[in-house]
Amino acid sequence: MTAKPAPIYDRVAFIGLGLIASSMALAIRQFGLAREITGHAKSAETRATALEIGLCDKVFDTAAQAVDGADLVVLCVPVGAMGEIAAEIAPRLKAGACVSDVGSVKQAVIAAVAPHIPADVAFVPAHPLAGTEHSGPRSGFATLFQNRWCLLTPTETSTPEATSRLRALWEGMGANVDEMDAAHHDLVLAVVSHTPHLIAYTMVGVADHLRRVSNSEVIKYSASGFRDFTRIAASDPTMWRDVFLTNKDAVLDILGRFTEELFVLQRAIRMGDGDELHAYFTRTRAIRRGIIEAGQDTAAPDFGRVAAKKDA
Ligand code: NAP
Repeated sequence: MTAKPAPIYDRVAFIGLGLIASSMALAIRQFGLAREITGHAKSAETRATALEIGLCDKVFDTAAQAVDGADLVVLCVPVGAMGEIAAEIAPRLKAGACVSDVGSVKQAVIAAVAPHIPADVAFVPAHPLAGTEHSGPRSGFATLFQNRWCLLTPTETSTPEATSRLRALWEGMGANVDEMDAAHHDLVLAVVSHTPHLIAYTMVGVADHLRRVSNSEVIKYSASGFRDFTRIAASDPTMWRDVFLTNKDAVLDILGRFTEELFVLQRAIRMGDGDELHAYFTRTRAIRRGIIEAGQDTAAPDFGRVAAKKDA
């Protein structure tokens, strides 16, 4: 049997104990990446659950207590809550510690957190491109980050040592790590995640408002495509509210382009321009092939789902 590698950190503290923190805690334990895990979440209920299911060795009633003595602190709260947490924990951070976060938007988190970080502490923002539509401490699983990207967006408050140690942690949890500038991150995410989520929310809203198709028909026939919109549109409302409020410029830029493209297709349909539609769909099909070739999804029909039995 091969021995586990030495832990990368002595004590890791999680502020926020939902999907991402619980998945990180489980992966850290499974791969022996830290000696001790502490945590804090807003509600007593989540704190009790985290202790009960063994996510953390110790859970504290305040964020400030949870970060005491930690050499890595990971902020896993909604983007809009990062600044107030940073202000609260700043006086309790250990000299030489690293603060990171997992927020889905990077420029707004850096603007809210960096001013609070003491000079002897490094701040290395991160964003794992992995998630599900579930939330809370029971929704995590250790393999969430396997073969998924984690983007680091170092700032002048990051040090090369803190950045490479955090990279080793994410690689230890199975992720592929890239570094990029925060503004570029926010634009890329507006294209690949934020705007698609908004479109899914909108499409589910349209079906909800449409009275000529009954709700039972929408549910019954949803496997024809709508089902995948509903999965995305079931994502956490607080998290996504904060994403749109804090990545406003990039999302509005991409939404503007989306609307222009939609009008191009709308016109082609109205004019019966089959060549335009066919050429457009041929180009988009190539993008799907690229995603499969990059190992980011399966080529199996219907995402590899086993068809549900009608009478099951
Ligand atoms: P989640 O499952 O909803 O968990 C959020 C956690 O934050 C909960 O434990 C909540 O505590 C805690 N919290 C909220 N406000 C707080 C405050 N003021 N003080 C202390 N704790 C607070 O969320 P998640 O999906 O893990 O997302 C966390 C972060 O990861 C977000 O910034 C999100 O943008 C980012 N992210 C999410 C995904 C995804 O797909 N879900 C993917 C990548 C990155 P209670 O349970 O007590 O309310």
